[in-house]
Amino acid sequence: MPPLSTSMPPCYLIALIKHETNTFSPVPTPLSAFGHGRGPYFGEAAKEAFRGSATPFAAYLDIAEREGATIVTPVAAESWPSSACSRKTFETLMDPLEEAVAAGCDAIFLDLHGAMVIEDCDDAEGEILRRLRAIAPRVPIAVTFDYHTNLSPETVALADVITGYKTYPHVDMYESGRLAGEILVDAIKGRIKPVMVHQWLPIVSAIMRHAPEDGPSGAIIDHARAMEKNGTVLAATLLPGFAHADTQHTGIAAVVITNGKRDPQAAHATAARVAGEMMSIALERRAEYVYHPSPLPEAVRRAKLFGDGHPDGPVLLIDHCDNCGSGGTQDVMAVVAEILRQQLDDVAIAPIRDPQAVQQMIAAGIGNNVTLSLGGKTDMPSIGLTGKPLAVSGRVQAITDGEIVFRGPMYTGLKSHLGPTAVLDTGRAQIVVTSLHHEPFDLLIFRHCGIEPTKKRYIMLKSRIHYRAGFKPIASHIVECHGEGVTNADLSVYSYTKLKRPIYPLDPL
Ligand SMILES: [Zn+2]
Repeated sequence: MPPLSTSMPPCYLIALIKHETNTFSPVPTPLSAFGHGRGPYFGEAAKEAFRGSATPFAAYLDIAEREGATIVTPVAAESWPSSACSRKTFETLMDPLEEAVAAGCDAIFLDLHGAMVIEDCDDAEGEILRRLRAIAPRVPIAVTFDYHTNLSPETVALADVITGYKTYPHVDMYESGRLAGEILVDAIKGRIKPVMVHQWLPIVSAIMRHAPEDGPSGAIIDHARAMEKNGTVLAATLLPGFAHADTQHTGIAAVVITNGKRDPQAAHATAARVAGEMMSIALERRAEYVYHPSPLPEAVRRAKLFGDGHPDGPVLLIDHCDNCGSGGTQDVMAVVAEILRQQLDDVAIAPIRDPQAVQQMIAAGIGNNVTLSLGGKTDMPSIGLTGKPLAVSGRVQAITDGEIVFRGPMYTGLKSHLGPTAVLDTGRAQIVVTSLHHEPFDLLIFRHCGIEPTKKRYIMLKSRIHYRAGFKPIASHIVECHGEGVTNADLSVYSYTKLKRPIYPLDPL
């Protein structure tokens, strides 16, 4: 139980280290990847980068300011998903955090992912907590996790408060941070005594089935929200896991917090009951967490037919097997090739990551014609694929510096860096090509380079679920296109070696 704060004003430490590691991804994770392409933020720069954004970090800042606390923000480092980061990179992020904790603080508020893997450690969050606890064994710690967390028992044992997002697309990051932060502050002030219980199921669930409206997660989250609302629990969180990380903690978890101030035993029993109710829905409906793709040509044909009917709004084609927001290389051309082969017209595509192609277009200049060997620059040895570029010709339509500030509803207010970006117009398709990775969830990916997405007949997105934040409201139809890549929802393409077996659906359960 967290001790009462003694210093006046209290010192609150807020930190963010976030990476969703796809252990099958060939995409490297250098230090510069943290900060969405610009490197991590340290000290005051961390505070300034995240203040006012729709993130747990910003929620923590608001709470700390309200409480009149002295605020320390040693590090804020978030990368788009990719392969495991090196020990050296991880230590560069940990050094300022450990130093700040060693200097003394009254509470620690962490904004973590939950599926971060380091080259020599499959449970980065467990290690972060273990090391902070070693320095400050009695300082209370709150953590907010991403929905795609693979939760280890060690992590739960070392934290006082854990919450996670209840939405996918993740549009409630701020609210999740606020919930964790308020519970910790109430505990510090002695108003409550958090009791936390977690349960875990050996189910490796397809992320394409994670959205609340698509599978069992919706019913589980509804139950969690109802239990929070009627005061049975302080927080109830579903963590459906991250299937593309091959670790022994990969699976579905529930974390429930109750107030044990009056009766810790009863509070524990209630938390265990609610967690059990949440997990029993997941277990009973586990078959709905399996994704059943249809062949790519058939999907594109279906999309074409929708477009032929002059619908009210664009038809979305979702290239979900190569989603950089889950570790995809973002340069697999299979779905683009099929769209061009079936001659869909009036298509906007975003984003293909190919810095070489961008440089060729910059060299050619706006208005001039180029022939590119586009995409396909990255091999994916973990799933036996080699990169296959696509020969395309067209006119360079636009060139940008790729500097954007999200309009929302996801990551509202946060800056992102696409790197030098260019648009190739093939006549039928306008293809946005970036130098850095970016999952398109904001209409800005098109608008910042002069394409109005609402006016297009078809839009192809390298995304999985997050596109729904910005694009679902403008779409007439949505067609999931099963291409290729390291975010394939067909889990049989992966050679798992570390999962705790038996695990569903790879084994019967
Ligand atoms: Zn997520």
